[in-house]
Amino acid sequence: MTSTDSTGRSGGRPSLPRPRLPSPLVPAADARFEQHGVRLLLKRDDLIHPELVGNKWRKLAPNLARAGGRPVVTFGGAYSNHLRATAAAGRLLGLPTVGVVRGEELAHRPLNASLARCAADGMRLCFTDRATYRRKSDPGTLAALLRTAGAEGAFVVPEGGSNAAAVRGCRELGAELAGRADVVALACGTGGTLAGLAAGLPAGSRALGIPVLKGGGFLAGEIRRLQEEAFGGPRGAWSLDDRFHCGGYARSTPGLDAFADDFEDRHGLPVERVYVAKMLYGLLALTREHAFTRGTTLAAVVTGRPFA
Ligand SMILES: *Cc1c(COP(=O)(O)O)cnc(C)c1O
Repeated sequence: MTSTDSTGRSGGRPSLPRPRLPSPLVPAADARFEQHGVRLLLKRDDLIHPELVGNKWRKLAPNLARAGGRPVVTFGGAYSNHLRATAAAGRLLGLPTVGVVRGEELAHRPLNASLARCAADGMRLCFTDRATYRRKSDPGTLAALLRTAGAEGAFVVPEGGSNAAAVRGCRELGAELAGRADVVALACGTGGTLAGLAAGLPAGSRALGIPVLKGGGFLAGEIRRLQEEAFGGPRGAWSLDDRFHCGGYARSTPGLDAFADDFEDRHGLPVERVYVAKMLYGLLALTREHAFTRGTTLAAVVTGRPFA
């Protein structure tokens, strides 16, 4: 018997430790939802893999397979979950990784815990001023960045890891929930996970995205673009509710903090604060607004866990 891991490799090369798939789907008894006739389930994607957590595993695995052993270059901010996951994958697979980090080096020294982890995992960090960073998809700028990083010929994964292969990888998340939920909710950054999830859901269930960035108005167009690229057209039923960003990316409010602390106590679930907390907070608000009809089964995707 040959062993093949989820990146499609087999034999001699190092491979990713086996992911826990399908991820567990567990009921969360919560009177605040039940009193409105809503049954809450938690889709524990945070348990897929100890280091390539949640949707980052679903998005990265197909890209690492496509990289075929080439060094991997990707992009992110100073606290990016995606950069950490890519760095960890590089260590586990013996692949060189380069992280292009938004912002000048001076602003990032000493390294915060997230970037320090990336570096410890062997990722070469390449700090880039914000103006250049914004233009990173422009072919000339990208080529210059790769040259500076000494990474010409590397496999490029976009910021947040969302490209067509990643979106197709997230379709499985929807398929795992088929027949188990009427509404599937998740937090959105780039929207790549939602684009794939919606495509994997059967007719009759729908995806609900909670953007964590302020001004998420661009996101619907981005999700349509990703679905076009991944599947050749729109797929599945989905919508966004952009009222729960709480001030923007990585921002919080006392109300959100209190809600997340309380949710941890009630359910014994470590609540990741940048994404997952806002999604759960939004779901309770929507439930109280009677956005879900009585009898709805609502699956909340726990896309990640706190970084400590
Ligand atoms: C990256 C991330 C997301 C956002 O995923 P997108 O595909 O970019 O929308 C959601 N939750 C967690 C925990 C993440 O790390």
